Amino acid sequence: MSVTLVEPGEVEQFVQKRPRSREAFERARRVLAGGVAQHMRSMRPFPIAIARASGARKWDVDGNEYIDYHFGSGALLLGHAHREVMAAIQDQLRRGWHFAQPHLLEAEWGEWVQRLVPSVEHVRFINSGSEADMLAVRLARAYTGKPKVLRFEGHYHGWWTLGILGLNAPFLPLESAGVTPEIGTVILEPSGGSWSTIPLRPGFLQAVREVTAARGVVLIFDEVITGFRWSSGGAQVRFGITPDLTTMAKIVSGGMPGGAVGGRADIMAGLVGPDPKRRVAQGGTFNGNPLSAAAGIATLRIASTGEPQRHADALAERLRAGINEIIKRVDISAVAYGESSTFHIYIGERPAGVSAGEHLWTDDAARLKGMPQELVDGLRRALQNVGVDLMSGTGGMVSAVSGARVAAT
Ligand code: PMP
Repeated sequence: MSVTLVEPGEVEQFVQKRPRSREAFERARRVLAGGVAQHMRSMRPFPIAIARASGARKWDVDGNEYIDYHFGSGALLLGHAHREVMAAIQDQLRRGWHFAQPHLLEAEWGEWVQRLVPSVEHVRFINSGSEADMLAVRLARAYTGKPKVLRFEGHYHGWWTLGILGLNAPFLPLESAGVTPEIGTVILEPSGGSWSTIPLRPGFLQAVREVTAARGVVLIFDEVITGFRWSSGGAQVRFGITPDLTTMAKIVSGGMPGGAVGGRADIMAGLVGPDPKRRVAQGGTFNGNPLSAAAGIATLRIASTGEPQRHADALAERLRAGINEIIKRVDISAVAYGESSTFHIYIGERPAGVSAGEHLWTDDAARLKGMPQELVDGLRRALQNVGVDLMSGTGGMVSAVSGARVAAT
């Protein structure tokens, strides 16, 4: 590929404008494994360290300003430091931030989830998306008594995935002889893998719903990203397909640490009962913590109107179209695409007869997620140099407050 996307000298420029981020990383490296709290935050030559954020903007420790398309890995549909969410957290903070005992906000929080998400008859709150997926899989296994879980290539369900089968998205091996009787659970991202990086073919979700329902297989929608973003009721409302269980995190807890599993009452009943040996084991000191509950309620109340999603979706569509215009103008072999309030940029060899910036020319997970790391890092850094921060190297999220200029405070 003969594309020079990134200006020569961008690394030098990146380093030169960020002495404090560099210092922060050097200090962190001496104490934190790899200098970061999780691997995906690593960047060469070092990651930017964030000082503060407000609305759709954030500032690093060197005072560089960014338009944010990261939004805390998609947790902040309403943008950074939203006034109503902050007030709800502060209000609770004064009354204590941790009890590890029942409190009144739990049920109110649960009621919002139950009201907005069609599959949710009962819900349980936990601490992260990874935990939500672990618990959902355990619940499904307990319900069906079948150990095998099917997941799809390129779909992310947290940092634990051991013991789960992985398969290519276009195929439905539930139809295969010998496999059928063992698989009790199917888990997927209803957006397609990694928040629509790998688009699903039309009819795929419907087909999976039909085949799982016909065979008594529990279908889990991982709505950790899509929940309350793809619509006020998540992807299941946007596409009109109801799974048996739904996992949520990020927006559900208003950008505070949190997560939830909800679904059919008969499957959720696995968590209930007097005999610990027959019950689905699940604990957690911080489950349903009051600060996350307060932030979650304040966020879901606003998200329930559908207005934040409409704004973010419309803006993301304009952004994708605008990036594609630029791609055409500079004539590089690339395309911007995405669903709902997301955008992705794919750079790679295109088939003959297809114009740049027109439409995505592959749905191959390995290709879509396999862009050379140097290119991905280079794009991210080059954009950071001009004051834009993506969520991953090749894409980002738009929020309800994106598109508005926020005064630096
Ligand atoms: N599922 C999906 C679809 C996700 O995008 C993520 C995280 N981005 C997770 C699960 C894991 O969530 P967490 O990072 O809160 O553990």
